[in-house]
Parts: sequence; structure tokens; C-alpha cells
Amino acid sequence: MAAISPKMAEEVSQTAVPTPKSITLVISKFNPNHESSYKFVEFKVPVQKWTTVLDAILYVKQHLDTSIAVRYSCRQASCGSCGMKINGKPSLACYTKISELNSDIVTVEPMSNFPIIRDLAVDFTSLFSNHKKLKPYIIREDSEIVGDAKEFLQTPKDVEEYLQFSYCIKCGLCNSACPTMATDSSFLGPQALTQAYRYVADNRDKGKKERLKMVDESHGIWRCHFAGSCSKVCPKGVDPAMGIQLLRGYLLGFRK
Ligand code: SF4
Repeated sequence: MAAISPKMAEEVSQTAVPTPKSITLVISKFNPNHESSYKFVEFKVPVQKWTTVLDAILYVKQHLDTSIAVRYSCRQASCGSCGMKINGKPSLACYTKISELNSDIVTVEPMSNFPIIRDLAVDFTSLFSNHKKLKPYIIREDSEIVGDAKEFLQTPKDVEEYLQFSYCIKCGLCNSACPTMATDSSFLGPQALTQAYRYVADNRDKGKKERLKMVDESHGIWRCHFAGSCSKVCPKGVDPAMGIQLLRGYLLGFRK
């Protein structure tokens, strides 16, 4: 057998795939149809430095417990489906690498402030209905698609007014982190209020009066205490706390 030189040995060790290590993944399990309380179940999961929390959960589903309920789709932080609490912080599972958590124990729980369907899957009905209620689209009397209507041109400054707020993927992490949502389940929430601002601030839109009336109610914009936790957890760089403050500016007459 040919001998291997020290240099070759060094090259082989540099290109070799690192040995996987294991972490303990603790998953909250709860079926509200059959159980009165949730329980935590531990699983040993092999991980590489690029393993995400979603990868680890899917490993458990594939090899150890097929019954785990988890919602996911795109695996690239675009669809907003895999929100959950990871070591206590609302996060996207597909966007959170285990190596970045600096812990050999990773606990996953369903997002707070949403009804639990089962295990890690929560019910988004209120998120979507509040979003829809505030009319998340451009409102105009004329239309882009009939007659001789033209493009609605905007300057870069016009676009800057709302651009970051249009990045929302409706993942619900901001609502999960919101302390007002924890005490008032009828609160419109940071996600919907931020989207109201996104359209109010768009100079193509003519629905400002209508939307401002909708947010100016008892479970609306004034219930926000500006804790700012929504902005700390957003995976898309949206700043809902700022959006809510800017929206208040219209109601208080500072903005037109
Ligand atoms: S504002 Fe951010 S955290 Fe809230 S739903 Fe949209 S993307 Fe998710």
C-alpha cells in the first residue's frame, strides 16, 4: 500500500466533511383536541454547522417521531410558514442555524399569541383576517387595466416612504412577540397596522381616510405601547414599531 505524505494527510483532513455533532432538540407537543396541557419531548439530533432548526425538526419527523406537527414550505425565509419560538425567541426555523444558537440544547415551541392547532403549528386565521380587514392593496377610483389609464409613476423618494414595509411575508413573528397581543386578542397587531401604514404612505393610494378610520378604534393603533419587541424579531428587516408611529403621525396631523 502506498504511503501517504504528511502534506497529503493535511490536505485530506482539510477537505474532509466535519464529523457531525449532536444536539438535544426539545419539542413542545400538544394536541388541544385530546390533551389539557403540553409536554416537552427530547430528541438527539446530529447536526452540521449549516443545519437549520427546520432541518433538525424534519430529521426527527423522518427518523424518530413522524407525528410532530410543523408547518413549512419554501425553506428560504420567503413564505413565512415556519415561525415558532426557538429558545424562547420568535424566529423562522428555516432561517435559524443551530450553530448560531451557541447551545447544545435547542427548544422549539409554538408561537405565543396564536391558538395552537397541534405541536408547533398555530392558527393564522386572526393574522390573515386583520391583514385583509385593513385592505392591503392600492385603492383607486380609476384602474390600471381599463380604458386609457397609464402607469402610476413614482420617484425614488415616493417609494422610500413605504419600501421596507412592503417586505413583510406575514410570518406573524411580530404579533407573537407583542405584549399587547398577549393581553388583548382583538388588537389589530403590529403586522396589520404596519401594512396599513405601507398603503397609507403610498402616494398612488386613495384609501387613506378609510384605513385611518379603521385603525383609530378601541382595539386599534392606540393600544400599542411601543414596546418595540415586534421590530426586534422581524426576519425581513421591517420595523413595525416605526410603521405604527408613522401611521399615528397621520392621525395626529403631523403627516398628510
Ligand atoms: S412585519 Fe416582519 S415579523 Fe411581522 S409578519 Fe411581517 S415579516 Fe413577519
